[in-house]
Amino acid sequence: MSKRDYYEILEVSKSASADEIKKAYRKKAIKYHPDKNQGDKAAEEKFKEAAEAYEVLSSPEKRQRYDQFGHAGVGGAAGGGFGGGGMSMDDIFSHFGDIFGGGFGGFSGFGGFGGSSRGGRRVNKGSNLRVKVKLNLEEIANGAEKKIKVKKYVQCKSCGGNGAADSSSYSNCSTCHGTGQVTRISNTILGQMQTSSTCPTCGGDGKNITNKCAPCAGEGIVRDEEVISLNIPAGVEEGMQLSVSGKGNAARRGGVNGDLLVLIEEEKHPELVRDGNNLIYSLNISIPDAILGTPVEIPTVEGKVKVKIEPGTQPGKILRLRGKGLPEVNSYGRGDLLVQIQVFIPKNISKDDRKAIEKLQTSESFDPSNGGGESFFSRMKNMFE
Ligand SMILES: [Zn+2]
Ligand SMILES: [Zn+2]
Repeated sequence: MSKRDYYEILEVSKSASADEIKKAYRKKAIKYHPDKNQGDKAAEEKFKEAAEAYEVLSSPEKRQRYDQFGHAGVGGAAGGGFGGGGMSMDDIFSHFGDIFGGGFGGFSGFGGFGGSSRGGRRVNKGSNLRVKVKLNLEEIANGAEKKIKVKKYVQCKSCGGNGAADSSSYSNCSTCHGTGQVTRISNTILGQMQTSSTCPTCGGDGKNITNKCAPCAGEGIVRDEEVISLNIPAGVEEGMQLSVSGKGNAARRGGVNGDLLVLIEEEKHPELVRDGNNLIYSLNISIPDAILGTPVEIPTVEGKVKVKIEPGTQPGKILRLRGKGLPEVNSYGRGDLLVQIQVFIPKNISKDDRKAIEKLQTSESFDPSNGGGESFFSRMKNMFE
């Protein structure tokens, strides 16, 4: 089905101002409003058509795309809001605040159509549940499956969540006579308007429970404990929040479950410090090892690795172990492990050591001005090799 031109629908020119478009839409919305045209399918189509046209032409960005590419420029996923057969009534009514809010003083007739209070069954939503999960670096590096026990509302097994003792425990709602909707006539500047909304007594079910389920007292939910298994991806970080949809509290009388929000906490590692996806390890070596070189073992999140300290290693030098850091969350990258080398200078030494060091004091190869050591600049260069 080919769509009509949006300007044509609202009967405005291509150069119409935002204000003209708004006024034109307001006129159409009033003319084709479903509550003034009950049961008139053609009017409902026109009403939806006008809303869609307004949705596009009222947004400068969408209007520009539409002017340039036509319906193709604003349809599909990029269009936003027109899944399948156009906008839903709730979408349309949710925009009415902007249209009828200002400059339309005293017109309260549309007040009752705020998205959620309008027709249809009201859907209960369970509340979200928040938990904290503490992970150590190894778990963060590899991803972890954590089983956690939570206290929460779950669906009542005895009634299956509907809150009734059995299937004969219902009566038709006396407020709405089983329709789930209540209709109200109000006087507006346009004359009498009929507005319908969800029945406040039964919440749109059309039925009342006469004999409530005992274990849940008719609520459809009970407190219980549940063990939930969480798959935590590798690379998460302190303060990150993961959301597990549908694992929160169950809703009253068969509604939609809330979500489980998992806040990540990081356990301090005894030796490694995290810096983004990199890990930092501080290695303390002795003066003789720095001068003569030595094999050392470095802790990583995958166990110890052997690394050779080259002879003549300078204090402050940083060894980079590529790929030994943490993975990026939901990606392929991986950080490095940076080994910061410190050289231990003893404060208290034995008599013999003192003698040996005193000998070194006069040794030519220990004289910094003699090229025995490295200059400050080559040391800086070495730090980042
Ligand atoms: Zn129950
Ligand atoms: Zn009712």
